[in-house]
Amino acid sequence: MAARARAGRGGGAGAGGRGAARAPRGARAAAAAAKRVCLLPGDGIGPEISAVAVEVLEAAGRLEGAEFAFSEAPVGGAAIDAAGEPLPASTLEACRASDAVLLAAIGGYKWDTLPAKERPERGLLALRAGLDCFANLRPAYVLPQLADASSLKSEVVSGVDIMVVRELVGGIYFGEPRGFGEDAATGARTGFNTMVYTEPEIERIARVAFDIAQKRQGRLVSVDKSNVLEVSQLWREVVSRIGADAGNAGVDLSHMYVDNAAMQLIRNPKQFDTVVTGNIFGDILSDAAAMLTGSIGMLPSASISESGPGVYEPVHGSAPDIAGQDRANPLAMVLSAAMMCRYGLDLPGVADRMEAAVSLVLDQGFRTGDIMQEGKQEVGCKRMGEALLAALEEANVKA
Ligand code: NAD
Repeated sequence: MAARARAGRGGGAGAGGRGAARAPRGARAAAAAAKRVCLLPGDGIGPEISAVAVEVLEAAGRLEGAEFAFSEAPVGGAAIDAAGEPLPASTLEACRASDAVLLAAIGGYKWDTLPAKERPERGLLALRAGLDCFANLRPAYVLPQLADASSLKSEVVSGVDIMVVRELVGGIYFGEPRGFGEDAATGARTGFNTMVYTEPEIERIARVAFDIAQKRQGRLVSVDKSNVLEVSQLWREVVSRIGADAGNAGVDLSHMYVDNAAMQLIRNPKQFDTVVTGNIFGDILSDAAAMLTGSIGMLPSASISESGPGVYEPVHGSAPDIAGQDRANPLAMVLSAAMMCRYGLDLPGVADRMEAAVSLVLDQGFRTGDIMQEGKQEVGCKRMGEALLAALEEANVKA
């Protein structure tokens, strides 16, 4: 199935539904300055939260003089239904032809009985691999309005603002050899994996991390297990070498063992600014850091590549239990779109406006069901979208 494309309301032009994000010649010229975003609404609540994110992006873009040209393509279960596979070639092509990919969520009951290799989730892995997204960025910040939602004391978590930079395509999840065998001495069954990193793999993730740290508070903690693992000794050596580059002089680099990092995240999370680590440690630590915030409906993420488009998506899944009921929280999706503007499209002003609007609607007391608190106003996905648009205007008038 061909990807669909449509013009952004901010004046950006896209293709007229003729496949893979290609615009007619004239329209392409008119949209020269427009950022090309490939939208993958996916399944479940995906289309609902995508609609809100697109409206908020376009409105924030208009206020900053930025334009977006959206194309849209199926992924996950929607793509299985439409094209028989979770990541059709036309979808990958549309993503590659864009400046950034904005993905909602995939999966649902309907496809749960398919064999693992044919399930919607495969589409996600294939997308990240197809775009060579090797760096996963997972912010964990506690909005003051929601500090009570954390399972930790609010004085421990309020003000937390951490970015975990995780290597995504290497390490023990991909290392060879791997498999099952037999212990030579006892004949007992064994299972084994290989934790391996090459110097260039460490160098490129380290460069991303230093770059991000520079855009944040300039403090970078590299997490490893170099007291036990040779792969971590190389990791530490290479990260330190990249840290010594003249361009990274402004970043304060320190190292921490992963067991201590896990403890410190719970004990005193405010000490962290940016964290860089390998695939398996990052998998675990980013989930732990995310849970400091207390709400899955609020968490964005990004997976970025060396030079091509990155994938920006909420951490949560497709929430099939509430799909189509106007009950989804669109804020993680909106914050993912803001990350896309900051890290993928070089539009920090648009990102600032979107993040400020999220903060303002929470100040105003709007809450979807998943983050509802006593005395606040419960709203659905659409109403939250309207509140965000009003908040963008209100903040603009005050500014
Ligand atoms: P989930 O994140 O979809 O839902 C967990 C719970 O959180 C549900 O009760 C859901 O209603 C709620 N929730 C999640 N996001 C919400 C939001 N924005 N607003 C309000 N409530 C929200 O996880 P799950 O139930 O384990 O998985 C459901 C499907 O999503 C599965 O098919 C799974 O494979 C898929 N999944 C996809 C992704 C992804 O697309 N990146 C990630 C995780 C799970």
